[in-house]
Amino acid sequence: MFFLPFIIFGIFFVVFLMIAISAFKSHKKAGDTMQNMINTVSAYAEKEIQEIIEQPKEETKTCEYCGSTMSAHSSQCDSCGAKVKK
Ligand SMILES: [Zn+2]
Repeated sequence: MFFLPFIIFGIFFVVFLMIAISAFKSHKKAGDTMQNMINTVSAYAEKEIQEIIEQPKEETKTCEYCGSTMSAHSSQCDSCGAKVKK
């Protein structure tokens, strides 16, 4: 999962390039519009990436009955349904 932010950034970058190129083709004289669009897309992409990077990793624990990984906050195993002591 370490590469996920980079993959998403790559997707955003490609989308951004496509928007920028299409904007450049259709609004060659509208430099301000293009600049605004670049700023908007960049800000949006940065915000999305920041949310992904800053997302806290979910704490997990292992079920003592079936050994599957589950949320540290859940009181019941998702796989085998066993009650888990806190
Ligand atoms: Zn279990």
